[in-house]
Amino acid sequence: MTKKNIFSLDNKVIVVTGGTGVLGGHFVNAIVQAGGIVIILGLNEERGNAQVEEIKLNGGEAIFLKVNVLDELQLVDAKERITQKYGKIDGLVNAAGGNVPEGILNPDDDVFNLNIEGMKEAMELNLWGTIIPNQVFGPALAKTGNGSIVNISSVGSKRALTRVLGYSMGKASIDYYTKWFAVEMANRYQDSIRINAIAPGFFLSEQNRNLLTNPDGSYTSRADSIIRQTPFKRFGKPEELAGALVWLLSDASKFVTGMDIGVDGGFTINSGV
Ligand code: NAD
Repeated sequence: MTKKNIFSLDNKVIVVTGGTGVLGGHFVNAIVQAGGIVIILGLNEERGNAQVEEIKLNGGEAIFLKVNVLDELQLVDAKERITQKYGKIDGLVNAAGGNVPEGILNPDDDVFNLNIEGMKEAMELNLWGTIIPNQVFGPALAKTGNGSIVNISSVGSKRALTRVLGYSMGKASIDYYTKWFAVEMANRYQDSIRINAIAPGFFLSEQNRNLLTNPDGSYTSRADSIIRQTPFKRFGKPEELAGALVWLLSDASKFVTGMDIGVDGGFTINSGV
């Protein structure tokens, strides 16, 4: 019997928004290692080009396009450039997102004077920064007959996390949207396109560095509290998201849609008792 790797991403063209970020960068590497061609979309041109250079040096294929996920025209232009170059798009990972400093409530702030504008900005980036790319790239994915979208949610969508309301509402909306969109797409395209979400627990990255570490690198009391409440008693390592990501992008998950996969060291299932 010939061996078949059902997790292979060989020759699949996969777009990663926010691919220049900490988790996004690991998503990019995981896709390349599984055989995929990666299109890195992000704001940081220098970082994106350096990633592409490294991937190519190691025999992989990638390009970087400077795109703001909230700008539909830029996304449309990117889609045209990708389809011109590669002829198709098989996958999309919506990793652009994170906290917006103005939307974070400080412990001494008045809870009846929330920074609504900051919270709206956080919701806009996380929710609309996911929906708009799906609107633009979705038709190309459905056309391949095997398209897969992976949204990035958070444990903040499942349990009340202090301070980050706008961010958590954005992620909770992603969970609902993922289910809703899975059904509506399936009603029209059957299994030609799927959509799922990964809900990471806590991983040290740029968007949460100020919440989790002090200027000297030591953990904040919030970070200590997270680790206490995580059964594995540690933060996640970004590469620990690779398995769930590659599974959801590959044909190994062909009958999976509308799901939300937690990768959190047990944080969300822990009652704390
Ligand atoms: P990060 O800040 O390292 O990466 C986010 C990336 O998105 C950055 O490269 C940033 O430039 C890019 N970005 C921001 N706004 C953009 C825009 N408008 N257009 C295009 N790109 C934009 O953060 P990360 O932790 O790697 O986050 C990746 C995703 O994972 C985010 O959605 C985040 O909310 C989610 N997440 C992270 C954690 C964690 O613990 N780090 C936990 C749960 C969920």
